This record gives sequence, structure tokens and C-alpha cells, in this order.
Amino acid sequence: MPQIPSQDQRRELTLDDLNKAIKNSGLKIDLAVVAQAYELAALAHRGQLRSSGEPFLQHPLWTALTLVEMKLDQPTIVAGLLHDVPEDTTYNLVEIEKRFGTEVGQLVTGITKLRKLHYQGVERYAENLRKMFISMATDVRVVLIKMADRLHNLKTIGSLPPEKQQRIALEVLDIYAPIANRLGMGQLKGELEDLAFPLAYPEDWKWFRQKILPQYQVKVEEVNAVIKEIRKILTNNKVKVLDIHGRAKHHYSLYRKLLQPQYGKNLNLIYDLVAIRVIVSNADECYQAMGAIHTRFTPLPGRIKDYIAQPKPNHYQSLHTTVFADGGKIIEVQLRDSRMHQQAEYGIAAHWQYKELGKHFFARLKKLPGFHAHGYIVPRKLKWIEELATWQQEVSDTRQFLRRLKIDAFRDRIFVFTPTGDVIDLPDEATPIDYAYYIHTDIGNTCAGVKINGKMEALDTKLKNGDVVEIITDKSRKFPNRDWLRFAKTAQARSKIRSTLRRQRPA
Ligand code: MN
Repeated sequence: MPQIPSQDQRRELTLDDLNKAIKNSGLKIDLAVVAQAYELAALAHRGQLRSSGEPFLQHPLWTALTLVEMKLDQPTIVAGLLHDVPEDTTYNLVEIEKRFGTEVGQLVTGITKLRKLHYQGVERYAENLRKMFISMATDVRVVLIKMADRLHNLKTIGSLPPEKQQRIALEVLDIYAPIANRLGMGQLKGELEDLAFPLAYPEDWKWFRQKILPQYQVKVEEVNAVIKEIRKILTNNKVKVLDIHGRAKHHYSLYRKLLQPQYGKNLNLIYDLVAIRVIVSNADECYQAMGAIHTRFTPLPGRIKDYIAQPKPNHYQSLHTTVFADGGKIIEVQLRDSRMHQQAEYGIAAHWQYKELGKHFFARLKKLPGFHAHGYIVPRKLKWIEELATWQQEVSDTRQFLRRLKIDAFRDRIFVFTPTGDVIDLPDEATPIDYAYYIHTDIGNTCAGVKINGKMEALDTKLKNGDVVEIITDKSRKFPNRDWLRFAKTAQARSKIRSTLRRQRPA
């Protein structure tokens, strides 16, 4: 399984290392273009050192390597090499665009625009988030480069003054990690958080390291015996195991969980502390493997979660079960196929390698009555991000912005379908009115009724994952109903309803 490796920052990375990684990744990338970008970066950063004392060029190289490991495309990797060039060097964006084309130019411009702000309290936080969302709405790859950039910065942060380290670490926990999570990039999110945790909360880290980590290590070792047993069970049942490994919970997410009142800082109450992850060939084998495991280890009631049939809003898919292992141990087992694993670790970044992901995902939903999918195109621009970006320009009040943003961006989303099978991504608890305004303002304004899965329903019905939604319009209707504001959830629908009603008022 590809993993973002724990990069050894003491080692000097070379262009050769990068080329090797590209070859191993199977990506179709022109090494001559990569070499040109490397040369320009080397020239531009010649003589520059980072605060750690290493040559500056190491930084874009590590950034590019991370992007290769995330299996992104050529323009992204080239832009990763060049991402710091326009700043403090004699080479500018015009030059980059001339040599590497507009796509690379635009990615580098996007990164440059994101760079200027630093985290300083709530105002700056909001400002940073706004910038991130605008960039993502333009091209989500900008934010992926920014994540790779920040990952290397965090790993090489040691020589900065502690306050500065803390500021950067807090920014990672408050902004970067939640966005990585929202984009489904579980591996990156965990890595960013674990690097930031000791720097952001040094006192709590000390407690965690001294009191929690030793017990945690014991649990990790216990799991290895169970892994052996599960492998044997599956082989006996003729399920081909592609990979089986223990997945220890990331430090920061464990720390956050321990702080929740129901756990009372007691490690023994956390069942998914160490999970066993089994990778098999396909979804059917996931169910088959679970059945085989249950004949040997009793499952805990109510702990089977089928995220294959019902994926999480960020597209996460797996089959989870929690079993009683020998000696009263309680262990979670996660079963998935390679594609689900790729999606779980890399999220949106996985889309660049698995273009058929959507097709596969929606093939399951297609089984719903009355549902006809026409496939699914993985967008570079994500509609929900675009919506946020447009909307945030209309809002001047920072606190209001943050409140709505948290609601819109970081809470769960549902996926519903148009009658022709297009996928629409809405916040949890969205109603047909939100859907209507999402499709088009006119559809919203002339909305007279709704059919959900072929049945007439009320306009304040809460939509569910997989619903097929058809809006009935009445062309004679000119204006929305003020009552809709009582249940419309999205910022977009609410602002459209308000602005249309305002125009309705006689002069
Ligand atoms: Mn950088």
C-alpha cells in the first residue's frame, strides 16, 4: 500500500530520489519537465538557506515528493517544485508561465496568494479560511500543494522560536487538518495533527507522553497476536488477504477523544484504540471475511458499521466490526478493498488516480429503486467549496462568517441525485428548497412542490443520502415564500431567498 513515508529530514533529498519516486508511483510524468522545474528552483533559491540551516532547495523537493506520494498529476508536482520561486527571487510568475504553461502558472499563483497571512486570533483565522476556500474553489490542487508545503514546514520547524512554532502548529490544527479531513485525506490529517500536537499543547503533550503512551504501547503489541489469528482464519476460509496490519490511533485524535467526558481520560474505554485493518480484493470479500471472523471472535452488539453500503459524506468506505478477542480484549476490525483504502487514506487526492471512483461508488446507489446514474465526474472545482467562496464574499461580519462556515464546511454532507443522475452535495438536513436553489435560482424561485424518490413530499422534508429529488416548478410563480427561510439550511438558498424577496418589495 502506498503510504506517505515518515520522511527522514536529516537526509538530503536529490532530484534522483524524486525521479525514482515518480517511476515507482507509476505516474505518467515527463521527467524532462520535472528536471527543468528543478533547475529553475535550484537557480532561484541558489545560496538561500532555511532557518534550519539546510539549503532552501530541500524544501520544494520534499514538497514535490509528498505530492508524488499522493499520486497527483504533473502540473501539481511541477508547481510543488516551483511553489516558493516567485517570492524573494528574480524569477516571477510570468517567467514560470512562459516556461511551464498556464496551468502550472495558475497553481503557483494560487499558492503565492495563500502565503501572505499568518494566524493571529479570530480575525486572521477567518481571513485564512476565506483564502483557503477561494483557492479551493478555483482549483483544489492549490490547497493540496499547500498541505504538502505545510507538512514539510512542520517537520523542519525545530530551529524557530517556540512561540512561532506554537503559532504554526495551532494554525495547522485549526485550519489545515480540518480541511484535510473534509477532503477525506485521513492519512495526511493524522500526520499533520500528530506533528502539531506537541508544539501546540506542550503541557498536555507531556501528560499524554508520560501517562498515556506507555499503556497504549502495550495495547499495540497485544494486537499483533490477534492479527496472526485473523490471517489464519481468513486463509482457512479462502479469503485472499492483500494486506493486514494494525492501525494505531493517531496521537492527537486519541488525545481529543480522551478529553471527551464519556471517556474520562480512561484508555480502556476506547475500543478503536488499535484497529486491525484487513485489505481484500473486493466488497463481497469484506462481508465474507467479517462472517469468518465472527465465527471465531464474538462481535460486540451494535458495533457493526457498514460504510460500504452507506459511505460517509467524505466518501469513506469500509466495513467495521468490534469483537471480543482472547483474554477479554476488545478490538475493532476494519475491512476494505484497495480502492476503498486508497480513498480513505488520500481522499480527494485519490481521485486523480482512480478516475472511476465515482462510478464504483455510485454503482451501489444505483441499486436504489428509481435511480439512474449517469456516472460521476470528479471535479477539480468542488461545488460546495465554490458555493462557500461566493457566499463569503457577500458576508462582511467575521463572526457570522465563522459561524456559518463551521456549519457549512465542517459538518457532514449528504449526496442526493437529480432525476437524470447528477450528484448534488448538500449539508446534512438540507431540504428540497436548498436543493432547488442549488440547481438554479429560477428553479428555487418558482418551486411549487417536490417529488422525493418518485413520491410527492413537503418542501420542508429533510433530504437523506441517496434521495432522488425532482422539483416541480410553477412558472407563474415569481417569488419565493418567506416561510422557506424557516427551514432552508444552506447559506446559498437563504441569501437567494432574501435577495429575491427584497426585490419583490414595491418601491
Ligand atoms: Mn514553501
